[in-house]
Parts: sequence; structure tokens; C-alpha cells
Amino acid sequence: MNFPDKGEKAEVLIESMEAMKANDAKWKEGRCFSYVYYPDEEMSKLLKTAYTSFFSENALNPSAFPSLRQMELEIVSMVADLLNGDEDTCGSLTTGGTESIMMAIKSAREWAKINKPNIKTPEIVLPCSAHPAFQKAFHYFGIKQRLVKVDKDFKADMDDFISKINENTIMLIGSAPAYPHGVMDPIETIASKAKECGVLCHVDACVGGFVLPFLKKLNYDIPPFDFMVEGVTSMSCDIHKYGYTAKGASVILHKNKELRKHQYFVYSDWTGGIYGSPSVTGTRSGGAIAAAWCAIKHKGYSGYMEMTKKTMDVAKRIIDYVENHSDLYIIGSPIMCIFAIGSDKIDIYSLGDELMVKDWFIDKQQFPPSLHLSVNQHHEISVNELLDDLDDCIRKAKAFNLSNLSNQIQVKTVEVLKALLPDAYFKKFKKIAANKSDIGSKRTAAMYGMMGTLRADEDGMDVMVMEFLDKLNSLE
Ligand SMILES: *Cc1c(COP(=O)(O)O)cnc(C)c1O
Repeated sequence: MNFPDKGEKAEVLIESMEAMKANDAKWKEGRCFSYVYYPDEEMSKLLKTAYTSFFSENALNPSAFPSLRQMELEIVSMVADLLNGDEDTCGSLTTGGTESIMMAIKSAREWAKINKPNIKTPEIVLPCSAHPAFQKAFHYFGIKQRLVKVDKDFKADMDDFISKINENTIMLIGSAPAYPHGVMDPIETIASKAKECGVLCHVDACVGGFVLPFLKKLNYDIPPFDFMVEGVTSMSCDIHKYGYTAKGASVILHKNKELRKHQYFVYSDWTGGIYGSPSVTGTRSGGAIAAAWCAIKHKGYSGYMEMTKKTMDVAKRIIDYVENHSDLYIIGSPIMCIFAIGSDKIDIYSLGDELMVKDWFIDKQQFPPSLHLSVNQHHEISVNELLDDLDDCIRKAKAFNLSNLSNQIQVKTVEVLKALLPDAYFKKFKKIAANKSDIGSKRTAAMYGMMGTLRADEDGMDVMVMEFLDKLNSLE
């Protein structure tokens, strides 16, 4: 596309943006089960006001905007309180879970340079269910990972965990809970092992941080997972998930200031002056900060309790439906309102496709094939319809039909090709990746089915995904 010669009128642009939304996931109708966490209309309005009133302010230099500094400090302190921190607990506001995790890993690396100077190749041990933001951080910061198996309930397998700890280990990680199946790792065991070995322990409560404390208060059986647990040295907690704020707000917390110092970056020789920065970003909009501050202050403990209760009631209705259905099951024992649905009877990806056709947006996962649902309080408006449509979609997914059959055949073809002709299947992948219409297509079982039948460490897989990403990032 050429750079525009002349400017366009606001109304025209607003109209074309609205038109572009036509094929987006229908989250406002409660039909999207990830990515969007929607509070009620009233709170949404408040957050938009907060966001726009700090739209231009820049958190890069807190001395220019003491307002933002004040709000950040208060947010971090309120989240530390929620997660049972004490007067030493401290942290920073970040733009999201990924940045919080990057800061935890960067801090661990710097901590080890000083406290474990003999380690040349630092290693971190984590369950295979932990969020890929960790692998991203390892990739950026040069850390070697030791991946731990999950047990039959999809929690970290502690025997395997312990076997992966060695003299190069600098940190152990557990999720509360892990995103794919909503299952919580044995945090107390992991943290006490970390303490025993004299290494750090990070708890990823990105998705659970704003739910588990309230569930516990509602008398759900929630094992300790936060700073109450001996040995936990850092935590990540997203406010832009179940804190229901605008996107761009998460918190990284450290057990004390000594640990937090390893997170910082300073460069004092620049001609522009002395530069110091606590996290990844430079310029940062005040909007997300103001919105996060308002979200927490507006809801308060009692407001989040109410939303959590409402959300769990919806989640339980879906879980009950699945558990009472002979063709489906819930994977592991999810601890909150995120969970995965599997099946031994039907092709679960076809079920996902049938739901897609009816405008439900539900993510597909692998190892084993499953559908992922993150339920939020807004799904109250759509849960009845979802349960009705599930009946119908399961019937269709079971029924013998042509599109179903061709999906199966494609998967089988690739499986066979893979065994016989490693290069040929790769070419086929490339062809699929190159076919742009597949990206927006409602029927994706074949594509995901293929991904699900191949292990990520096999030849060509990463390259194929790179090609796919490249296509997604190309305007054609
Ligand atoms: C969402 C999530 C992350 C990553 O957070 P982003 O805000 O998407 O960067 C990390 N860990 C868990 C458990 C999550 O659910």
C-alpha cells in the first residue's frame, strides 16, 4: 500500500474501521472464549474515560508525571497486598504478562551472575505447560531451559521436576494455574525445593492472580500459591485479564528490593543524559496505567468477589455439561474458570470448527487435541446458547460428511507422508501456510489437525510456523 497522499476525514476512517471489524471474533456477544475479558458497560465506560484522560502522558519519565508514578506505585502495592506480600514485597507495572515474565527471567539471570558466579550456562526448570512467554524470555536472555513433564492430571510431575535440577539451575517455575488446562502446579512443593536448593522460584499467576484469592474467600479449595508460600521469590499477575482493565497492564512482584534491582537497566554515558529504566519499554502511555488504577479502585475486593462468583457459576455450567456428556471430558482438574475440553469419541477439532461456523471463537490446543475456554463474567449472556449449540455441533462433528472426511484424510495423508517422505510433507505445509484464505477460514481442523499430529521438535515444524507468521505479517 502506498503512503496516503492526502489525509482522510475522521468520519470516513471511523466508518472503515467499523467495517473492518465485521469478521472479528464476536466478543461483545459473549461468543469469544479467550483474548477479551469484558466487565460491564458501566465499568468499561469508566476505563475508557481513565484511558483517554491520560492518553498523552508518558510514564517514561516519572518526574514529569508524578500522577502516573503515584498510580503505578499504588497499583503495585495493591496487587502485592492481594497476593499476600509483606512490607518488603515490591515490583513494577508492565505492559502485560509477557513483559512481567521477561523481567522475572532477566532478574534471575542478573541475580545468578552475582550469587552463583560459577554458573556459565544458567538453566531454569519449568513444566511444559508453562506459558511460551518463558521460552520467549529464554530466547531473548540466553537461558537454557529444562522442561518438566506433566502428570496424568496435567500438573508438573515432581519426580521429573527434581531430576531436572542440577548445579546450573538458577530458578524453578510453577503456574497458578497454567493457561492451557487451568491446572495449578504443586506450588508449595516447587517453592520448598527452590529454597532447599538455594535458587529462585517464580509463580506465574498471570491468569490466576485476580481470581484465586477471591475463589479462596468463596471457600473453594485453593492450595497456597502466593507470597504466603516459603521460597516464592517473584510472581507475575495480569490486570488486563481477570482484573478486567484495558489491555497493557500487568505486575511483576519480587520478594524484596534486592531482587528487584536485578530487573533494572541503567546507561549513564548517553549524550542525552543519564538513562534508567525499570522494564522493557521506553515510552509508555499513561492510559493503561490510569485504567488499571481505576479498575482496581472501582471494583475493590467485594466487586471482584462478585464477578468471580458470577464467572464460576457460568464456568460450572459448561463443565457440568461436558462431564455429563458421554463424548466429551474435561482435561485434568481445572482450578478456576479456564479449562480444556477433550474427547476420545469425536474429532475435537471438527467440533471446534462446527462451533466456529456458528460464530463461536474457541481456541484449539495440542498434546492432546482439545478446545480451550477462558470464561469471564460477560459469558453469562451467552452460556445458554452455547450449551444449545454444543448439542447440535457435537451431532454434526460426529456425522459423516464430506468436509469432515477431507479433514481426516488430509491429516492421515500428512501422517503417512511424514513417515515416507520427510521433505514432501514439509512442502505440503508450506503450501498450506502460503494459502492466505486459510487464515481467515472458518474451517481450520485440517491445519490444526496437522499441527496436532506433529511434534514441535520434529524437522520443519518451527520453519513452517515462521513461514506462517511471515504470511500473517505481509500485506498482499
Ligand atoms: C496470558 C498469560 C501469559 C502472558 O500474558 P500476556 O499478557 O499475553 O503477555 C503468561 N502466563 C499465563 C499463565 C497467561 O495466562
